[in-house]
Amino acid sequence: DSLRPKYKRVILKMSGEAFGQSGKTGISIDETLEIARQVKLVVDRGVQLAIVVGGGNLLRGAQFSAGGEAIREATAHYMGMLATVMNGLAFQDALELHKVETRLMTAIRMESVAEPFVRRRALRHLEKGRVVILSGGTSNPFVTTDTAAALRGRELEADILMKATRVDGVYSADPEKNPHAVRYEKLTYQQVVRENLRVMDMSAIDHCMEAKLPILVFDYKKVGNIERAMAGHPIGTLVTD
Ligand code: UDP
Repeated sequence: DSLRPKYKRVILKMSGEAFGQSGKTGISIDETLEIARQVKLVVDRGVQLAIVVGGGNLLRGAQFSAGGEAIREATAHYMGMLATVMNGLAFQDALELHKVETRLMTAIRMESVAEPFVRRRALRHLEKGRVVILSGGTSNPFVTTDTAAALRGRELEADILMKATRVDGVYSADPEKNPHAVRYEKLTYQQVVRENLRVMDMSAIDHCMEAKLPILVFDYKKVGNIERAMAGHPIGTLVTD
């Protein structure tokens, strides 16, 4: 069985764009259901999955606060964190429609909406085979959900951090602008830092490097890729020591 999972516990970072339509703001029910369908396939194979959700389809703090002086930058970042909770709620219902047991946790307390993030409780859910959706980022402004994914990946002792994006890996230049751009199959943390490659935020890279947590950047839009990634197929770009 070539799709047998290679990893026991995975932290998956899903950007907000996964829950919306390309180039549009808002949440798309169809897109969200499609991601849920793909996630179900890997959960059924026994992978322990914690998913950090982004909020970029609704609001990004840095962009929103750049629009004028009325909204303080920190305020805009809190708004971005709340956006991730909305995606988390939609994703949870979509997964449940596919008969996947989930728990939604938030880094920002709001008990009537989701469980507060407590490390030991999250671990317990994972051990019971529940998909843990992690929303609210880190609860701190000025960072992004990439950093949240790296931190949670470390504390939940994941085997790998997978960053699901719309590009099939890390390129030497922007592949849409430069026809000579090449995709790296493998990279080291050092190369990422030295060449300032756009894998994740530098603070996220830092955490992964310190914990020796491998990072896989891959294209989730290609059907079957989430399963392939979990099985350790050579897709995307793998960043290791
Ligand atoms: N955010 C934050 N702290 C965090 C995580 C997120 O302030 O720990 C804010 C930040 O403004 C960010 C927004 O929430 O732009 C949405 O998250 P992100 O941009 O990471 O979403 P993605 O790009 O993954 O869709």
